[in-house]
Amino acid sequence: MGIIMQESLPFDNPPHGGQTIRSRLARFVKIRPFSVSGNIPMTTRKILVTSALPYANGSIHLGHLVEYIQTDIWVRFQKMRGHECHYVCADDTHGTPIMLRAEKEGVTPEQLIARVWQEHYDDFAAFHVEFDNYGSTNSNENKACAQDIYRTLKANGLIEVRSIEQFYDPVKNMFLPDRFIKGECPKCHAKDQYGDNCEVCGAAYAPTELINPFSAVSGAKPELRNSDHYFFKLSADTCQQFLRKWTRGGSLQQEAANKMQEWLGAEGETKLTDWDISRDAPYFGFEIPDAPGKYFYVWLDAPVGYMGSFKQLCAKTGIAFDDYWKPDSEAELYHFIGKDILYFHALFWPAMLQHAGFRTPTKLFAHGFLTVNGEKMSKSRGTFITARSYVDHIKNTEYLRYYYASKLNGTMEDLDLSLDDFVAKVNSDLIGKYINIASRCAGFISKKFDGKLGNLDAAASAEFKSAFESNEIARCYEERDYARALREIMRLADVANQYIAEKAPWTMAKQDGKEPELHEVCSTALTLFRDLTLYLKPVLPELAAQVESFLNIEPIAWSGTWQALPAGHTINTYQHLATRLDPKLIEAMVAANQESLKPMTESHSQQRHAEAQQPSPQSSPASGRGSDGEKPSSTLEPIAETINIDDFGKIDLRVARIVNAEHVVGADKLIQLTLDIGEEKTRNVFAGIKSAYDPEKLKGRMTVMVANLAPRKMKFGLSEGMVLAASGETPGLFILSPDDGAQPGMRIK
Ligand SMILES: [Zn+2]
Repeated sequence: MGIIMQESLPFDNPPHGGQTIRSRLARFVKIRPFSVSGNIPMTTRKILVTSALPYANGSIHLGHLVEYIQTDIWVRFQKMRGHECHYVCADDTHGTPIMLRAEKEGVTPEQLIARVWQEHYDDFAAFHVEFDNYGSTNSNENKACAQDIYRTLKANGLIEVRSIEQFYDPVKNMFLPDRFIKGECPKCHAKDQYGDNCEVCGAAYAPTELINPFSAVSGAKPELRNSDHYFFKLSADTCQQFLRKWTRGGSLQQEAANKMQEWLGAEGETKLTDWDISRDAPYFGFEIPDAPGKYFYVWLDAPVGYMGSFKQLCAKTGIAFDDYWKPDSEAELYHFIGKDILYFHALFWPAMLQHAGFRTPTKLFAHGFLTVNGEKMSKSRGTFITARSYVDHIKNTEYLRYYYASKLNGTMEDLDLSLDDFVAKVNSDLIGKYINIASRCAGFISKKFDGKLGNLDAAASAEFKSAFESNEIARCYEERDYARALREIMRLADVANQYIAEKAPWTMAKQDGKEPELHEVCSTALTLFRDLTLYLKPVLPELAAQVESFLNIEPIAWSGTWQALPAGHTINTYQHLATRLDPKLIEAMVAANQESLKPMTESHSQQRHAEAQQPSPQSSPASGRGSDGEKPSSTLEPIAETINIDDFGKIDLRVARIVNAEHVVGADKLIQLTLDIGEEKTRNVFAGIKSAYDPEKLKGRMTVMVANLAPRKMKFGLSEGMVLAASGETPGLFILSPDDGAQPGMRIK
């Protein structure tokens, strides 16, 4: 029994045998392993791992990759340990946003999702994310699983039909999800707000409260109509009881478990409401059995997609599905997810599984969001970077894997990709410490010893041997504390480099009679290099394969007893393994992403599944119109007279949101702006920007205003401030925009 199932994660015993493992080791060092008797064999665990399903409505970006890289490292580690570990995922393909986007592109939803599937698959492959099966939620296997679960829930009395009143688009002939209804905010009267909350004042409300609502799909005035909806009865006693227990049973990280207690409420309280799992036609998804015209809501069949994808793997490989999914299963089931979708995975999903006759997850591993240079990814800053763009500019995707790993610690904290730190870390750790060992020692083996290794310096390798035997690095990987694992690995790399520096093989090579020692030093260094490669292999699989080929050894497994590379073993000639990361490549990537400010089609993970996606979200307000302008020549207006900081301080500049913009009857140059600068009342400003802007396009965008300018009475009314705009000799007028994240009322200093 090698599995400990207490507070800690199941963790295998120190490896001292296990037939398959030992024979693998034998291949790897090309000698027979010691015969070990009386030791506990390492138990082979059965592990099924998933990552959240990316939505088929946008490209994979660096934010998504945090999760897939985190998962892939863990899976590769488990496989290296000799466990039976399967990693499945799929594209999440259903819902209104997919249906509407396909329509807009003039293709069928099936054509759209097939194209996006290929893009996603290629992006993951480029980053060495190696699924055992990558499916689609729009598969027969998934349909069968979803319907099966639904039927069982229904038989258990947990499905209820209720009539609800909802907005209906009479032109498009469809019920409208909240995010596809727009109108005037009932609270602050900002125009063009979504049906669930106001982006100007932050108020949350029901779509029926909007003033002058209209359909974002057709523009038509929606009608309220009744429709039967299907609900999963989460409020039922059996679900409440089960979830109270399950969420405290160790399957969640502590911070996630606490969050769930908030959502569940106190004992005896029923805070959870029933979950609406149906949508009316037209909808791209699976029809609900015996309910014509009713479809499963995308979030019902999305987690079921884990099962559907695994079913495909079972069909390909002969694995027994039930071994992993029946209630008495001894297999472990882990879902890696972003913290934004905890609600679905920690409440709906386990409750569904439990009451549909399946096992529940062993653990959920939630992670935080990605920031770039300490801020939210931003199109205007060029830090909203797609996987494809990274590959086009940087090429080496293992650098990003290494950097993410160096930051991931298994908690729900956000992770920051600091671009300067990224370059520094790759160059100092990977190139300076790790690759350096091989590049300094391998040449002597080839040139002086015909490629054959010599004896091991036992004293120099003692620390490596004991590190291997302590299992400390393995434990870090198991607990998803990759940051700690890499710190320990780099400490060992320092030890190896120090040894090489002290021995100075390059000096020995010039001295007579030092050949035996030179042989020993270089052979020892390469064994240490092999060890470091073993530890880095879950993170850097491609580089590890190159090293295996250079060292002329079988794929390195992580088991058995520690062995040196044997004396007499022939290695191949050292070839360049990796180059330094040039900061210019990063600059070029950021610049390229800044330039291509196309309307956003990607969805941030928070909105991934929400029925929520705007059909065509506006591009970043700070899109810098200057980028398409010509370069100004020498016709620069002279710089004004010098002022001191106090002079400047008298001007109160504020971030303003343009709540409304309208033409002014009878004015040739003016647009009337309604500005929100965080005060109770909005400001009215007449701005002379009519030549450059269409009022419709200004609504909702952010700008900068002088807030303490004396009000000015004009022919058309009172102007309470001034909006800043740039102009010069060349044509054009450009109003200013703050960067993403700035809020109305923030002072500009
Ligand atoms: Zn509002």
